[in-house]
Amino acid sequence: MWIVGGVSDDERLDAAATRHVIRRTAALLRPHRRLVAMAAAMAVGYVGTQLAGPYLVRIAIDHGVIKRREGVIWAAVAAYTGVAALNYVFARRQILAIGTLGESFLRDLRIRLFAHLQRLGLGYHDRHPTGVIVSRLTSDVDSMQELVQQGLQLLVANLLLVVLAMVLLAAASPLLALSCFAFAPVLIWSSRRFKRQSNDAYLAVRDRIGAMLARLSESLNGVRVIQAYTREPVEIERFGRANRSLYEAHMQAVRAQSWYLPTVEGCGVATTALAVGFGGWLVLHDRTTVGVVAFFVLTLNQLFEPIQQLSQLFNVVQSAGAALHKLYDLLDTEPEVTEAPDAVSLPPTGDLTLTGVGFAYGPDAPAVLADVDLTVHRGERLALVGPTGAGKSTVAKLAARLYDPVAGTVAYGGVDLRHATLHSIRARIVLAPQEGFLFAGILRDNLRIGRPGATDAEIETALGRLGILERFQQLEDGLDTEVQERGSRLSAGEKQLVSLARAALVDPPVLILDEATSSLDPGTEVEVEAALERLSEGRTVIVIAHRLSSAARADRVAVIDGGHLVEVGTHTELVAAGGRYAALFDAWLAGVGAAYGTAPAGDGTIGHGTIGDGTVRQPGMDRLPPS
Ligand code: ADP
Repeated sequence: MWIVGGVSDDERLDAAATRHVIRRTAALLRPHRRLVAMAAAMAVGYVGTQLAGPYLVRIAIDHGVIKRREGVIWAAVAAYTGVAALNYVFARRQILAIGTLGESFLRDLRIRLFAHLQRLGLGYHDRHPTGVIVSRLTSDVDSMQELVQQGLQLLVANLLLVVLAMVLLAAASPLLALSCFAFAPVLIWSSRRFKRQSNDAYLAVRDRIGAMLARLSESLNGVRVIQAYTREPVEIERFGRANRSLYEAHMQAVRAQSWYLPTVEGCGVATTALAVGFGGWLVLHDRTTVGVVAFFVLTLNQLFEPIQQLSQLFNVVQSAGAALHKLYDLLDTEPEVTEAPDAVSLPPTGDLTLTGVGFAYGPDAPAVLADVDLTVHRGERLALVGPTGAGKSTVAKLAARLYDPVAGTVAYGGVDLRHATLHSIRARIVLAPQEGFLFAGILRDNLRIGRPGATDAEIETALGRLGILERFQQLEDGLDTEVQERGSRLSAGEKQLVSLARAALVDPPVLILDEATSSLDPGTEVEVEAALERLSEGRTVIVIAHRLSSAARADRVAVIDGGHLVEVGTHTELVAAGGRYAALFDAWLAGVGAAYGTAPAGDGTIGHGTIGDGTVRQPGMDRLPPS
């Protein structure tokens, strides 16, 4: 058997953590208690039949051979055969039961972890890189898998075997059993030493595999530069070093095995010799029987391999324990956005109010918003403007309760969102991102994300209302076109339309739109704009405006800067006030002028028409980058 597990010092669990892991595991195993009982029974049966063999030999010798009773010999042989057959059955059942138990445990654990990750707030996902979370669900679960597949059955059976064998030996002849412990100190000392060495070797192997993979991926990514500058020999030399060092780590493990396995073997032989010698002496002095000595020799023979295996398994168990500890930690992390036990449904309509709202992404993170007071009236269209990083998206996320504010409240129709059911919040307030993330599957199912029960007809009606049904029907397989996030056949504009269509299906009274920053081709741009306008009809709309033309078309504009709400008012008022917004708008107009050779009028109008009322617009103006 090869070394498959190990833990570093900072992964090693202390007593309290170990107890925690055991308690949690026991709780997770509770639904499988019948299987646990079954596995335990099979393991006892397996070990019992294993040890029954030597016992039958003892009977055959003492009561058959010595007392010259042939019947007993044959009976013992028959029993021996029967027990061997039973042992086969128990062995199979045991492997199956323990394997099923382990795999069921892992299956439950994986789905629990996955479900928990889906529920954990965006805050958790902000703080933990996807890679780390993925490694929790892969490598940490894998450490458990290793134990379950390779070791659990051996561990249970071997532990039982060693304990039971010692009890039987002591019962058969306490004196002889005591003598067998002569080599126990050597065994214990060498097992501990081996455990340490193989753990070190395992950790070294783990590190060096990582280092080698890093080398490999860097040289593959940089292969163009490497070849351009003929760095191949250098790279090969560097990989060679990493490779040698991995070899060394593996050899460390081989060397540890090379002395440990023969040492245990030697202890076994020496103990057997002792049992024969001392046992023989006891027989000669009528203190025990030949059968008992034979029983000892045969039982001892069965004992040393399990001892070898157990000391190798110890590391696997430790690393599985460390992995479980990390996984339970993850399961114990509470979601940040939770539903209050007495949560109520949000009223069907109302104003959306932010009162004294403050926010930071994490306990030690700097404040992103402070003291924001803002009311978005029912049916109103409000534009959020401000420089990048000002906190506009954060306001949007708080308004949709993707996060809870650190200070102040967000309320809809007078109900604090923290006291509302999550279901009613998601039904009333929808934040449509710039582009719809595409899940692998057909387009139709992708549109259904917000309302899984939507019928095909409803989807088509919704698309029709946005004026984009035809566009999607023109795709190769229409709404049944297979899509996926990477390499999808949808363009950026189409993905924006998917995002709007999803929101349309939910049909919420409040819509929060993150205006796209990516520029589209003019045709698609017009289509997206038109769909957006249609989607906005009859709803309260908050739009994070990257283009000031859409701010100009809104009923009111709120300017966020450095996490503060600095101005609120209509476009005309704010331009007239000559404050922050007027400056942003001027800068933007200058940009438009520079791009189109149109002289900015400086009064909220450009060239041929006013933008304030949204009636006359410069063609293509919306495609300009944000100011
Ligand atoms: P805007 O939408 O105005 O560009 P944001 O609301 O996205 O601004 O960001 C405001 C500030 O919060 C920025 O400094 C940004 O770096 C920070 N921020 C945004 N999202 C996160 C996040 N998920 N985790 C940590 N900081 C964030």
